[in-house]
Amino acid sequence: MQRLRELSRLVEAVYDELDHTFGAYQRKTGLACRSGCGSCCNNPEIDATPLEMLPLALNLYDQGRAEQVLEELEQYSGFACFHYVRHSLDGIQGQCGVYQQRPALCRMFGAAGVSSKTGGTRLSVCRTIKQDHNEKYQQTLISMLSEPPPRMATGKERVRQLDFELGKQDLPINQALKYALERVLFIAYYSGDERSDRVA
Ligand code: SF4
Ligand code: SF4
Repeated sequence: MQRLRELSRLVEAVYDELDHTFGAYQRKTGLACRSGCGSCCNNPEIDATPLEMLPLALNLYDQGRAEQVLEELEQYSGFACFHYVRHSLDGIQGQCGVYQQRPALCRMFGAAGVSSKTGGTRLSVCRTIKQDHNEKYQQTLISMLSEPPPRMATGKERVRQLDFELGKQDLPINQALKYALERVLFIAYYSGDERSDRVA
């Protein structure tokens, strides 16, 4: 169990870096999310590795909620991330219910670099941000020739390299959490952990 906790701390340290790098880029370019928007969380196909979900799985375990959430995930048939909290009927307004533990993609999505067909970097900006900040978007397209955006693939890879087994496979986000919870509960059971090392 101790190893999983150490691994989780390493993942969180990478998340701090991602928040800093991608947040700074989005602030600098002015390509910020629309206030109250959570539209992109309305998609259960957002990908994450079980490794990316480890901090959340351990947090749920420490709260004594791991088994309950695992059962709820098994029953879940919604069309969103399980932890998305809707504030409007159409789901466009809302917020993340697990913001501190959200996976890598959720920390980078919005305005970031992705691979172009020619192997270079192109700017990926969500439709809502483009609508809200079209002029800044155009300016960023010009400035990125000298200052390329941070790439999402690099961010994903920074996490992945921490543990090949848990990081090798991208899954739909709810499945990735399920996998991580199963792993935490399995290790806890066989190591005799009774949530006694929650502050280790
Ligand atoms: S990335 Fe786009 S869709 Fe997602 S919350 Fe931000 S503005 Fe909304
Ligand atoms: S973890 Fe949070 S930010 Fe990521 S998709 Fe789910 S609700 Fe949205």
